[in-house]
Amino acid sequence: MRCPYCGGLDTQVKDSRPSDDSSAIRRRRICPDCGGRFTTFERVQLRELIVVKRSGRKVPFDRDKLQRSVETALRKRPVEAERIERLVSGITRRLESTGEAEVTSEAIGEAVMEGLKGLDDVAYVRFASVYKNFREARDFEELLGHLAAGAAQAAADEVPATGEPVPVPPARRPRSRAS
Ligand SMILES: [Zn+2]
Repeated sequence: MRCPYCGGLDTQVKDSRPSDDSSAIRRRRICPDCGGRFTTFERVQLRELIVVKRSGRKVPFDRDKLQRSVETALRKRPVEAERIERLVSGITRRLESTGEAEVTSEAIGEAVMEGLKGLDDVAYVRFASVYKNFREARDFEELLGHLAAGAAQAAADEVPATGEPVPVPPARRPRSRAS
């Protein structure tokens, strides 16, 4: 980063920290040539990222879809929504920061696995087992559909073991007296 005071190119980062709302990284920099100090901000730049599927078809990257697949893998796991949000943002940012305009569906799957590995073992295994079965011939979209179906099945399997609801006896009515 060029020094705004003397134009020197060897400025150094002295300190890096997230901004208050964590939407940016604030870096304190110093110029060894003139001693000038200044601050730079690193922010997310949303750009059109294209996903290349196994079929070769190209579709715009869909952050919501990524989030749904991560949430499905983390279903009923003790992980706060905020951490899921951060994971999805982190994956998205990594994909965007490759510098390439296109990313393969496989790279997304790998990034999700990598992220889940550090977050929750069960979710990682869930995602990885499904993903690895699908990586041969099918694309990420099908994986997401499969995960969603798996979640529905899991919900069906989790019917409480107590079984049938206990029938509630009808309330007794006071007998009406014939007058
Ligand atoms: Zn300078």
